[in-house]
This record gives sequence, C-alpha cells and structure tokens, in this order.
Amino acid sequence: MLLCPCVRCSHTVEEQWIRRMSEHQSAPEQLAAGKSQARMPVLCSSCSEKRAVLKRPKTGHSLCKACFFWAFEEEVHRTIVAAKLFRPGETVGIAASGGKDSTVLAHVMKLLNERHSYGLELMLISVDEGITGYRDDSLETVKRNQQQYELPLKIVSYEELYGWTMDAIVKQVGLKNNCTFCGVFRRQALDRGAVMLKVDKICTGHNADDVAETVLMNILRGDIARLRRCTAISTASEGDGVVPRCKPLKYAYEKEIVLYAYFKKLDYFSTECIYSPNAYRGYARTFLKDLESIRPSSIMDIIHSGENLSVREGVKMPVQGTCSRCGYISSQALCKSCVLLEGLNRGLPKLGIGKHHRLHEKILSQQPLTEREKRKLKSVDF
Ligand code: SF4
Ligand code: ZN
Repeated sequence: MLLCPCVRCSHTVEEQWIRRMSEHQSAPEQLAAGKSQARMPVLCSSCSEKRAVLKRPKTGHSLCKACFFWAFEEEVHRTIVAAKLFRPGETVGIAASGGKDSTVLAHVMKLLNERHSYGLELMLISVDEGITGYRDDSLETVKRNQQQYELPLKIVSYEELYGWTMDAIVKQVGLKNNCTFCGVFRRQALDRGAVMLKVDKICTGHNADDVAETVLMNILRGDIARLRRCTAISTASEGDGVVPRCKPLKYAYEKEIVLYAYFKKLDYFSTECIYSPNAYRGYARTFLKDLESIRPSSIMDIIHSGENLSVREGVKMPVQGTCSRCGYISSQALCKSCVLLEGLNRGLPKLGIGKHHRLHEKILSQQPLTEREKRKLKSVDF
C-alpha cells in the first residue's frame, strides 16, 4: 500500500487519486468535505442528463458513473476487437492476483463476454508465491472473486513447482534481487497452470501505465530485445508449454482502473508486497506519474513511441531455443528459471543474477565449480 507522498496525511496514493478525480460532488458532499461554498453541479458531458461524478484522467471529460462505466468497458472491447485477441470457442485463463488490475480484468472480461457474445470460456489462474502476510491474504480475495464471478480457479504454487517459497528465497538471497527470482518463476508458473487447465490463451492485467513504464525501463537499460517485445498486445506461443498471452487493458490508465474498481465497489486487495524494493521500476513509475501530472497523454505517447521504434538491421538479437533441462523457451543452454533454481539448491544464489552463461555447460555436465567461482556466486548484498 503506497502512502501519499505529502507525509502529512495517512491516505494511500489510490485514495488521493479517487478524492482528486471524483471532484464533482453533490452540494451536501462538498459541504461535508469541508468546502465552505458548494459549487454548481457539473453535468455529464456524454449524456448531458446526470450529474458528473468524476473527471476522466485519460480524456479530461466530466462523466456520470454510468457513462464512465460504458466508456471504460467499450474501450476495452474495442481494444480486444481491433487486435483480434480472441476467437469464439477459446478457453481463456485470466491471471488473477486479487489486485485491482486483475480484479477489474476478470470483471470486465466476464461482462464483455456476455454483452458481446465472445463465446469464450473463462477461468482464473493464480500463482501462490508463498509470501506470508501478502499473497495468502490476496488469494483469499481471489477465492471470493471466484465465487462472485462464478469462474473456475486454479492456484499453482512456487513451493509445489520449485520446492521454494518466496519467504525461503528471500532468506537466502536477501531483498535486493528477490523480484528477479519471483518474476522469472511467475512467468513459468502461469504457463504451467495454463497447461494444466488446457487454456488456449492467458490474459493479464497489464495496464497502459505498466506498458509505458516498461518501455522507459527498457530504453534506460538499452534492452533492445525486450523493448521490441514489451509493447506487443499479444504474444504467440513461442514453444511447447508456452501459452500465448494478451493484455486487454493495455490502453487503460491505472487511475481509471482504480476509479472503475472504486465506483463498481469491486472486491480487491490493495496492499503492496512486503518484499517490493524494486527500486528501478519505482523510479520509472514516479517519473511517469510526474510526466502524467503535467501532460496526461504522456502515457499513451510513450506507448506509441515504443510501438513505432524499429531496430536497425544487423543489430544482434538473442536466438530463441529451448532449455536443455526443462524444455522451456530459452536463448541459452539453460533457461533462467533452471539457472536460478540451481543457484538456490546449491546455495549459490548469484548464479542466475548477472551474466554467468559460461558456467551453464559446467552445470549441465555436473562438473564441480572451482572455489573462486563458488566464492563469487555465494556473496549476496543484503
Ligand atoms: Fe514477487 Fe517482487 Fe512482486 Fe513481491 S514485489 S510479488 S517479491 S515480484
Ligand atoms: Zn529450464
């Protein structure tokens, strides 16, 4: 849960957004909120009948609740149709964490599937990373969502798949690189859950802010290969056990997702992970929010730039193959997940962090590492 940066109040950042954007309160609400003189009510700019209750962060339009819901939902529908994300008869797994994005995604996907007769069979897939005091609570929200939306749910856990929980991983690797382990394991865990459920596609709750942040981070890191992929609204299957993914909320602003969940009174979990240092993404997020406050279209502009960047001929790109241990896609002899796991199991947590590709052959052929190599891979900055 991110607290308001003003330090004086104890509101969360999301509560502040809701307060700021639901600015068209009724006269009694304005007076109750401490405003000495009530302003004239603003009419919805779409229906011109009802009182506007919010100003859309994406367009600046003042809308009533019903018109906002319709605009938000139909924009997601247009995204789905324009990108041909689904085909009738497909089984789609919704990656559900209990957070606002995936809860709104599950709600909107169910609603649009019925409203526009997509003919999809929807399911929820959750990953239990094994984070006490965070994921166990958010999974309770997912279980309630399952009842509310009447969708089947599959939970896959790190402990069951890898023999490690994030609690145990953090004990070994500390709080600096924990998200590297978690991110790599989650990607594969979702695929494993999707294969178990035999779904045709996975859809994730990545929103416009997430995509813009990732474009910025990939530019800052010079990661050309990821930069090219990160704006794609859908990915095809890259091999056995890799299920195609898509992002129906790719053009939905985070602030609008918060407002939608708030006005719809959706049941979601808003506490931040207890192991979330991820400083680099945090800086990119703060930078993006600053840009958005000056120019709301910055988010869409960055996505647009990312979509239209092209890579010069002759730039070397990683060649996708398969992991010789588990068969998952990999551009190296061993996939990242297998290397991280090997490092954990050998008590050499740095093995998967940084570039130690030349050691992969040694690991594969079970050759012993030298003392110097072991020393280098053991030390972790906590
Ligand atoms: Fe995993 Fe890091 Fe996200 Fe926590 S913040 S769930 S450790 S990736
Ligand atoms: Zn592997």
